[in-house]
Amino acid sequence: MTATPESAPPAAPASAAAPPQAPAVAPDDAPHVQRAYRCRCGNRVFFRNSLCLACSAQLGYVAARQQLVSLQPGPQEGLWTLDDGSPGLWRRCANHALAAGCNWLVPATPGNQAGAPDAEAVPIQTLCEACRLNRTVPNLDNEGNGERWQKIELAKRRLVSSLIGLGLPVERRVDGVSQGLLFDFVESEPQGPAVLTGHDSGLITLNILEADDDYREKMRVQLGEPYRTLLGHLRHEVGHYYWDRLVDDPQWIERFRTLFGDERQDYGEALKRHYASPRQDWAQSFVTVYASSHPWEDWAETWAHYLHMVDVVHTANSFGLQAREYVSEPDVFTREDLYDADDPSGPLFLGWLHEWFALTAVLNEMSRSMGEHDFHPFVLPRAAVPKLHFVHMLVAAARAAAPLPPKPFKAEAGDAEAAGQPQEPGGAPAPADQSLEEAAPALPPDQAAQTGGASAGTASATGSPATLPN
Ligand SMILES: [Zn+2]
Ligand SMILES: [Zn+2]
Ligand SMILES: [Zn+2]
Repeated sequence: MTATPESAPPAAPASAAAPPQAPAVAPDDAPHVQRAYRCRCGNRVFFRNSLCLACSAQLGYVAARQQLVSLQPGPQEGLWTLDDGSPGLWRRCANHALAAGCNWLVPATPGNQAGAPDAEAVPIQTLCEACRLNRTVPNLDNEGNGERWQKIELAKRRLVSSLIGLGLPVERRVDGVSQGLLFDFVESEPQGPAVLTGHDSGLITLNILEADDDYREKMRVQLGEPYRTLLGHLRHEVGHYYWDRLVDDPQWIERFRTLFGDERQDYGEALKRHYASPRQDWAQSFVTVYASSHPWEDWAETWAHYLHMVDVVHTANSFGLQAREYVSEPDVFTREDLYDADDPSGPLFLGWLHEWFALTAVLNEMSRSMGEHDFHPFVLPRAAVPKLHFVHMLVAAARAAAPLPPKPFKAEAGDAEAAGQPQEPGGAPAPADQSLEEAAPALPPDQAAQTGGASAGTASATGSPATLPN
């Protein structure tokens, strides 16, 4: 049985127990991804904004608090205070002045960094928490790369804000954490091998041509994908990273194998088989056809879907929108559909799931009203629900093992993206164990300076190229 957002979800089987009393939205103590903000003037402002178009206030995003805040000039040029009255001085991420147009803020002194043990001993960071994940950014001497980089960083900031909001560990290789994350945004050399989008031991490589609408759409059609976006790519690839971090653990690995299959089967052979002849019955058990290629890809696709679901539901909730108040549908999934029917957070997960169905039903039809592709062009099989719940449980376990995320936001009263199947481009996927260093050649000296974006002292914090339309 499948549930499709484009029609009423299927009726619950006659034998199903009564739906649990799942909350329509997450309770206050659940992790949240805040997406609704207002400037000090009252104008609504958005995650990607760095300037209020109504009152010209400067805006900056405080990742640790998941808030976009309007700013007041500080005691020196380039320093800012927050309009919400919280103490401390902030500066813009150094990549704000570059094509990336990052709108995140960095504590102006190490002492502003919560928990900094010895302010004097901590070097001042010029890049924000998201930009510090970069190792290689596009060579800005090449035409079009500035715009590509801006789009990629926007998607990455949304990803990173979600990870922080969910309480997942976001550690950086550049900070000396060997198991940390690292990003290479690279392009193929004219005579060199094609850059393959993929993940290898924490290094996520993205072919920057994916930022071009024409290239991405061509690949989407060529590969028969219903959905292909930068954010979908990043969510999928970071799923591989968190598999290494969370699943490859004695507590979880056998459970993973029971649910997703044995990942020790030959990855290269599995993908070859998939591209030669995809499973015909994939829709019965997998979120996408690519998920049926290998347990690792099933995990990454399911993970990406979980992030889609949580972000969409939290976005709606942060605007005070609870779709199930308006789209009355029976709850078709019950505790019996979960991976673990006794999971204490099962009702919360089911609440999200049903909210997601209600939202996507409306959003799909609204997309069609604009003549666009479906907002959520997938059909979720019932067999994928325990996998999504397994992801949910792992995220909860990771959150419990780590410091809690910041205080949850409150939805504003009165206010009312998949995986893609980021098949690696060209139908020639990179084996997970392939060294992506090969696909991403070492930087030429002139590009190395751009590694990680702006470096200390090279970027003015006063530039303001980054105001995006709402
Ligand atoms: Zn304003
Ligand atoms: Zn930044
Ligand atoms: Zn993958």
